[in-house]
Amino acid sequence: MRAYNFAAGPAMLPDEVITKIKDELFDWRGAGVSVMEIGHRTAVLQDLITQLQDKIRNVMNIPNNYKILFLQGGAQGQFAGIPMNLVKDNKDVDYFITGIWSKKAVEEASKYANVNVVTQATATSIPSVENWQLNKHANYAYYCPNETINGIQFADIPEVGTVPLIADMTSNILSYDIDVSKFGLILASAQKNLGIAGVTLVIVREDLIGRQLDITPNIWNYKLMSEGNSSVNTVPVFAIYVMDLMVDWLVKQGGVKAIAKINYRKVTKLYNYIDSTEFYYNNVLKEYRSMVNIPFELKNKNLLNTFFDEADKEGLKYLKGHITVGGARASLYNVMPEAGVDKLISFMQDFAIKNQNSN
Ligand SMILES: *Cc1c(COP(=O)(O)O)cnc(C)c1O
Repeated sequence: MRAYNFAAGPAMLPDEVITKIKDELFDWRGAGVSVMEIGHRTAVLQDLITQLQDKIRNVMNIPNNYKILFLQGGAQGQFAGIPMNLVKDNKDVDYFITGIWSKKAVEEASKYANVNVVTQATATSIPSVENWQLNKHANYAYYCPNETINGIQFADIPEVGTVPLIADMTSNILSYDIDVSKFGLILASAQKNLGIAGVTLVIVREDLIGRQLDITPNIWNYKLMSEGNSSVNTVPVFAIYVMDLMVDWLVKQGGVKAIAKINYRKVTKLYNYIDSTEFYYNNVLKEYRSMVNIPFELKNKNLLNTFFDEADKEGLKYLKGHITVGGARASLYNVMPEAGVDKLISFMQDFAIKNQNSN
């Protein structure tokens, strides 16, 4: 029996994707070798890359003046790759700090650029635009729309004028419809909504390509990577192959708009339940709550480990919150079925009834 995986990442994969991988693992599409053994410069693999770029362009409605790159080093690699590729005449960059991931991005960017912090979120909300200190000469403004660990999300795309907007969408890419033309660059490492770890999707506007610092490694150089079809060095073939299967799966579900509706139902159910009890709580103000990663606390913290153990036995896995914030967290990525959320809520109800006297 497959469990429901509520981890913040790697996320669960659809059964049909795992089955397909299993079925074609020994002989990939008649090649006589496994996809794990295929050279990245073969025509079949280069076709896979090009076709996957087209599929992503279609499913996200990406305008033609954007390049789609597949890079290695994860999202955190791009925390360095972004300043290396985008600071030019001056080294000024703007960052919104709204949680642990944007804070880490600032730490990394500070090695290559002069970081101005536009604003800083509290544990429960993000300051509104009147309180932002934007620099209109910044090379870019960087934010993390959905802070995976803190469970905080921007309600809207921040308005930053003509400065290119950069978004780390690792935990919410393809989970809702976005207007790509509002962004200079979008990054997402794959292991949440795009398959498995090992490849990072970078969608970058063409006019931002070619500004890299001399110290930029070739494998992170957007210019070289876009000219070389993301194949400057040996590409993470298997991770790209799984991403391709994930995009096919998403299209089969009806695409981004269809999955966004289901995601909305899933997350609303869970918050509604949490808000309806005294037993559990989430303190983030409603308009800033994450639509993907839902941290919650038990009023009686002593019950947390029992909660995790019993949930695990029910096939509700990896509900433990990130070590830096504690508590519990349910991550509801695209692949988490509504039935998984229903089962979680029903477990939480039973657990609350069973333990009401110890509250
Ligand atoms: C998971 C996550 C990361 C880290 O990704 P790596 O590929 O492990 O570097 C960065 N940012 C966000 C928003 C994430 O959710």
